[in-house]
Amino acid sequence: MPAIFFGHGNPMNAIEDNAYSRAWRAIGAALPKPKAILCVSAHWYLPATLVTAMEKPRTIHDFGGFPRPLYEVQYAAPGDLALCERVRDLAGAQFDDRWGLDHGTWSVLVHVFPNADVPVVQLSIDETQPAEFHYEIGTKLSALRDEGVLVIGSGNLVHNLHTFSWGGHPVEPFDWAVRFEKSACEWIIANDPAPLVGYEKLGRDAMLSAPTPDHYLPLLYILGARRDDDNVTFPVEGVDGGSVSMLTVMFG
Ligand code: ZN
Repeated sequence: MPAIFFGHGNPMNAIEDNAYSRAWRAIGAALPKPKAILCVSAHWYLPATLVTAMEKPRTIHDFGGFPRPLYEVQYAAPGDLALCERVRDLAGAQFDDRWGLDHGTWSVLVHVFPNADVPVVQLSIDETQPAEFHYEIGTKLSALRDEGVLVIGSGNLVHNLHTFSWGGHPVEPFDWAVRFEKSACEWIIANDPAPLVGYEKLGRDAMLSAPTPDHYLPLLYILGARRDDDNVTFPVEGVDGGSVSMLTVMFG
């Protein structure tokens, strides 16, 4: 199976028919059906590495101030306890029975796998750990790709909500966002993850693009899950609101 990083952006993408949601549907239609999905979501960011060890993970509407139809979305994919055990053994994750699927996961998967018939397990991001830790977990999870598991990360390469232009009207991307995204793509194409793992040392463009780690770190898991012989594609591109990169990175 491939490993994919999705830029999820605005939760409204879950219920809107737009360029991003159409591109996500096209990705799903072109993929072989996985046995299960393991998703690292930006929105499960806490001081531990946990997996959603539950047979029926609930749909969590972890946002405020959006229209009612977004709160009515249910993504009823089953869980997968056997996959949780694999992730515990591979990456030292602990079992959680309280979380579920947050919008980092379901706002994308409602389009990629609209039938919700593939089991989904979420993996949390340990906020107390350095960037290298998250990349290392990705390398350990790479083995799942041979077992029919689709490993995905959901965040945004560039995610600055202070500078984001709300309201949906098109705006030009910030120059620092464009530069950081361009550099990131070049390192990804060159199979050179070191600058991206060490992004905190890259200076102003990176700090404005990833002012908090939560939306950036899912990318490092996917970079870790990469194989040297993987094809690299960017099936979704675009910068939303001036400072949220919608870039999707696919390996394999
Ligand atoms: Zn988000």
